[in-house]
Amino acid sequence: MDSKITIGISACLFGQNTRYDGGNRHEPLLIAALSQIVTLVPLCPEAECGLGIPREPMRLEGNPKNPRLMTITTRCDLSERLQIWSALQMDVLARKGVSGLILKARSPSCGRQVAVHGIGEGETPHSPGLFARAWQERFPDLPIADEEELRDPGRLENFLKHLTEEKPNRQEKQR
Ligand code: SF4
Repeated sequence: MDSKITIGISACLFGQNTRYDGGNRHEPLLIAALSQIVTLVPLCPEAECGLGIPREPMRLEGNPKNPRLMTITTRCDLSERLQIWSALQMDVLARKGVSGLILKARSPSCGRQVAVHGIGEGETPHSPGLFARAWQERFPDLPIADEEELRDPGRLENFLKHLTEEKPNRQEKQR
């Protein structure tokens, strides 16, 4: 039986062609290093909730405390679709014993700190992407990071230390 810790990872970082343009953002060095010590479970919120590949680019808009996921050209609000899929996926991840997530930086679904457009002049506010937000609300004590943070060896070490200190699901927020 595989006794390694299990973590989820954005499928495009894993090398799967799930991006809106049909490409990926493979991180071979990070994947190779992590694969020796953890089991990686790739997932793509946008493709798996049915938005297809390729698909129209989207971005976060509106109130940074509750931003909407909007397609940029056709102005479709995809928030509810992504949020419903994310809520269901939290149960799936819990059943798989997923103990942490590594997500694609700046994605409106996966990013940890994503620009939120459309509330006028001044500094651009930021918010987690909708899938990242769902994870943080459901599992507030489990680690989450993006690939840019983990290029720093010190932050990678801290992320892995945090993983081994936490027991999956025990920190699940009471609903
Ligand atoms: S950033 Fe997230 S939603 Fe976008 S392609 Fe990668 S895994 Fe899919």
